[in-house]
Amino acid sequence: MNIILLGPPGAGKGTQAEKLVADRGMVQLSTGDMLRAEKNAGTDLGNRIKAVMDAGELVSDEIVSSLIDENLGRLQASQGVIFDGYPRTAAQAESLDGLLAAHGRKLDYVIELEVDEDALVERIVGRYTCAKCGAGYHDKFKQPKVAGTCDVCGSHDFKRRADDNEETVRTRMAEYRAKTEPIIPIYDARGILCPVDGMADIDLVSAAIAAILDGK
Ligand SMILES: [Zn+2]
Repeated sequence: MNIILLGPPGAGKGTQAEKLVADRGMVQLSTGDMLRAEKNAGTDLGNRIKAVMDAGELVSDEIVSSLIDENLGRLQASQGVIFDGYPRTAAQAESLDGLLAAHGRKLDYVIELEVDEDALVERIVGRYTCAKCGAGYHDKFKQPKVAGTCDVCGSHDFKRRADDNEETVRTRMAEYRAKTEPIIPIYDARGILCPVDGMADIDLVSAAIAAILDGK
């Protein structure tokens, strides 16, 4: 089974992909992870990627296609794939069909995590973690029981990710709407688009995805 997880940044694609990997032995092909791994492996392709990234340029569609081709080639036929963060554009969606076909695979489902943008911004912008143990908190939804003290380890140090600010989050969402949302109708027309409420609790989202993959 081969699926795409679609949704704006922060919609929970990574969390759901992790669960599918753990529960079903599927393989997650995330563009960012694949780029880093290939670069570190020092293959010919990895060296090309390194040169592009070191120059501060964007990795081309052609390189991303090669990367996916390589990674699909390393899998066993029985291993299902989750694409996370790819395809991002209509051109990439078209390339993906060809790549899958070349490896004797086809796309089974495109799971779209639907979100309320304002609520998602609130969820992302308010989050922070304990600097010592990594426990997660949120300004609005999950404050420590004692203000300023980590529930888990008692530390008073907390940190926020620099890109969890409203401007950055809104920019990334606008980019998703402009470039990625247009590919949704392509999959809808093929009858493989499955929208899921991405604002529900993580476990409910997982259950909804499981029901789709199990054909229920
Ligand atoms: Zn802590």
